[in-house]
Amino acid sequence: MARTRRTVQHWPAVLRELTVSRVVDVTPTLRRITLTGSALAEFEVEGGIAAAFRSEGFDDSVKVLVPFDGEDRPPLPVQGPDRLEWGAAGGRPIAKDYTPRAASATELDLEFVRHGHGFASTWVETVAPGSLTWIVGPTRSSLWPEDIDAAILLADETALPAIGRLLDEWPEERTTETTIIVEVPTPESIVNLSAPSCGRVVWVHGRDAWVHTVEQVAWPEGDVFVWVAGEAGAVRRIRQFVSTERGVPKDLLDATGYWRD
Ligand SMILES: Cc1cc2nc3c(=O)[nH]c(=O)nc-3n(C[C@H](O)[C@H](O)[C@H](O)COP(=O)(O)OP(=O)(O)OC[C@H]3O[C@@H](n4cnc5c(N)ncnc54)[C@H](O)[C@@H]3O)c2cc1C
Repeated sequence: MARTRRTVQHWPAVLRELTVSRVVDVTPTLRRITLTGSALAEFEVEGGIAAAFRSEGFDDSVKVLVPFDGEDRPPLPVQGPDRLEWGAAGGRPIAKDYTPRAASATELDLEFVRHGHGFASTWVETVAPGSLTWIVGPTRSSLWPEDIDAAILLADETALPAIGRLLDEWPEERTTETTIIVEVPTPESIVNLSAPSCGRVVWVHGRDAWVHTVEQVAWPEGDVFVWVAGEAGAVRRIRQFVSTERGVPKDLLDATGYWRD
């Protein structure tokens, strides 16, 4: 049974070898890499065909497989027609979650927060056009819930790619009153978003300000869908507040810790 009112679709796990074609700094703290390659289409594997890349949900994620320090390639899982065998070729890779910001038959955009501490954020400082990259997924997509009256979305910078995608793909006929509260470190990290007339975007700086903003939002009438993604501790505080103080039921609350401080 679905956890929320969002319909979930499942896709087979496919390992794709792609090449970086562009590196663009969207802001000083967010780097977009564009990946390309024939592996975005379906391709032959031993024993069958691996499905083409597919991503239907604004908050889908792929695993980016990152090489260990000083190595060119990570230990890759072995691909079968509909499943992956992790560790089969000796060791498991470092695998980090990133949102497909935009995808077409020939290109995939991912956006990395340049926080400077971890494997993926260090790796993204080293990539250049021509670098090889391996991704797995998405293995599932959750669709926008249609039977709601309003939506409140809270994102920190790691979930900004999901918000950007949601707004870029917003259907003209969707008139759900939507408030989006985004936390970024400084005004330089604000990006242009294509908000629809039924939506407004509020930018805040600092995690406490992010949590406090939701406490001050005029709460809409009816079934309000709440989506939260960002630092796990702050997400927990927001989830607690909206469920106890605003009475948001579990099937209308989708809260995910994207990283842990
Ligand atoms: C479904 C999903 C989708 C996601 N989509 C994106 C996306 O599109 N873009 C994106 O940038 N991130 C995204 N993330 C978050 C990303 O996977 C994590 O930030 C991840 O930890 C980064 O890996 P790393 O190797 O750089 O750092 P790690 O090795 O995991 O962590 C190393 C250190 O860095 C700290 N750290 C990790 N992330 C951050 C951060 N963002 N800011 C400050 N410190 C940090 C950790 O606390 C730790 O101390 C997503 C996460 C999920 C679950």
